[in-house]
Amino acid sequence: MSNEFIPYGRQSITAADVEAVCEALTSDFLTQGPLVGQFERAIAKLSQCKYAVAANSATSALHVACLALDVGPGDSVWTTPNTFIASANCALYCGASVDFVDIDPQTYNLCPVRLAEKLAEAEASGCLPKVVIPVHFGGHPCDMRALYELAQTYGFSIIEDASHAIGAKYKGTPVGQRYSDICIFSFHPVKVMTSAEGGMAITQHEHLAERMRTLVHQGVTKNKLELETTSPGDWYYEQQVLGFNYRMTELQAALGLSQLERLSHFIERRRALVQRYYQLLSGLPIQLPGEADYGFSSWHLFPIVLNEVLAEQRASIFKYLRDHQIGTQVHYIPVHTQPFYQQRGFNWGMYPVAEDYYQRTLSLPLYPDLTDEQQVRVVETLQQAIDQAIIL
Ligand SMILES: *Cc1c(COP(=O)(O)O)cnc(C)c1O
Repeated sequence: MSNEFIPYGRQSITAADVEAVCEALTSDFLTQGPLVGQFERAIAKLSQCKYAVAANSATSALHVACLALDVGPGDSVWTTPNTFIASANCALYCGASVDFVDIDPQTYNLCPVRLAEKLAEAEASGCLPKVVIPVHFGGHPCDMRALYELAQTYGFSIIEDASHAIGAKYKGTPVGQRYSDICIFSFHPVKVMTSAEGGMAITQHEHLAERMRTLVHQGVTKNKLELETTSPGDWYYEQQVLGFNYRMTELQAALGLSQLERLSHFIERRRALVQRYYQLLSGLPIQLPGEADYGFSSWHLFPIVLNEVLAEQRASIFKYLRDHQIGTQVHYIPVHTQPFYQQRGFNWGMYPVAEDYYQRTLSLPLYPDLTDEQQVRVVETLQQAIDQAIIL
């Protein structure tokens, strides 16, 4: 068997993708042409949402989503510690503060029960969050109905960070369709589908879509209807707020559109590989990620959790796998333990479930082009890694 490096995730690029990008490259527009709008409409349709706004990354989309919901100084935004740092940083970009809610030990998503407890405490001390950002970790949807009911009770908004979860469903409907104000996707190459860099915000609310669209375009509007009374001619545009250049390019949209045609195949293949992992890994002293009855996962990640004995050897198991060309990874170092967040008053011990999970987890390779043979190599190498860890 060959011994090439197997990463934990990677993009799947075909000749059709290459052709689509080359066609965009030789068209009249490299940016702000027809493809970005086409990509937005396609993602909106897939998500059964009225509006979609493309951005140059999910990080940018999270930033403008927070701004569209009026997040600013004096506000608090809550998210999960088990996420990529961008889910928290977006609040700080707006001058707001960040706080975290511990995770559920089964799904590793933000725990609705912990959220309810924390909200009750926050109400008593008068510091309720303005926005809560649940993350569909690994592609597995959060229990959105429970979060939505809490949002109704306590009056906060919800931004779903669905960076891992395009194509995932909650109770049969696409994520972002119903239980939040705004939902964000990432098209970074390791995610479920890619536009190289790229992100998208979807919403059912016209005013939020308009605000986000203005913010990704330097705060400028050229909307003819809006400018009807002020416009002296066709050259005219107006800056109405302070915005950013967060635009997606035509090349990115061309790749995204081409990838979107294969999204259901990507997810089918991921799901088939997960079923194979369940068979191949049964009997090992590890907890495997599951799917709740309300969720259809897009399976961005396959995070295993080592039992308590093995967890002490996590670093050596990681190293053994890497030394044997298996690109395992750890998702995620709890955000609140980053030095930057520790400087802001957070510390180890504050979110014990996320911290315990972090100490014991490893993500196994999972991506559409992973072959059955490569997957067997992953499992055999993991078995060896565990054997040597037990001897240590
Ligand atoms: C990847 C990721 C992001 C950021 O996405 P970019 O497109 O790289 O900006 C945000 N949140 C989560 C959970 C992610 O995994």
